Amino acid sequence: PISRPQKIICLGRNYVAHAEEWKSQVPSEPMYFSKLPSALLPHGGHVILPKGIGRVDNEVELAVIIGKTASKVKQQDAMQYVAGYTIAVDVTARDVQKAAMAKGHPWTLAKGMDTFLPLGPYLIPADTVKDPHNLAIELRINGEIRQKSNTSNMVFKIPELIESISRYITLQPGDIICTGTPEGTLPLKNGDKMEATIEGFGFLKNSIM
Ligand code: MG
Repeated sequence: PISRPQKIICLGRNYVAHAEEWKSQVPSEPMYFSKLPSALLPHGGHVILPKGIGRVDNEVELAVIIGKTASKVKQQDAMQYVAGYTIAVDVTARDVQKAAMAKGHPWTLAKGMDTFLPLGPYLIPADTVKDPHNLAIELRINGEIRQKSNTSNMVFKIPELIESISRYITLQPGDIICTGTPEGTLPLKNGDKMEATIEGFGFLKNSIM
């Protein structure tokens, strides 16, 4: 639904159970990183696993799409800047990420590889979503549930994120905020059929190659 965002800002460890599965803690303030617009992949596209990069994981996430220019926005006004929502999978080259972390390097390669951001299939208008912080969120691989949670488990909520990002970074229409993943991040393999869903948002289907 969004083809050319100026930027894609993502949350690390925004669900307690996901932080715990990696034996880490939820940060005391939002932990941001970014993915590259060139990583975007539409519904139906193939996630390409580059040879020799080791483990690559699924991370289903609620994606917030910004609707109007947002700079220094306060929490109480933040939701006015949301155009809508969609489903994202923050595909992560886990071994590459771990190696980077061990050296104190950023995650740009691990998170930014081509095809590593399936997104869609629809832009769900904000005014049709009663509460974005109470939606079932799920990811299946080959029909089996791998991630199952609810967006109510997000630690930092959308208004807080928009306030804290827009304090320093002007958000533009079409920009994307990926709000973090629940537990169940596991390796993908060639031939897998991946199906991500959020309550009322349809199904984002991609295969792994
Ligand atoms: Mg993620």
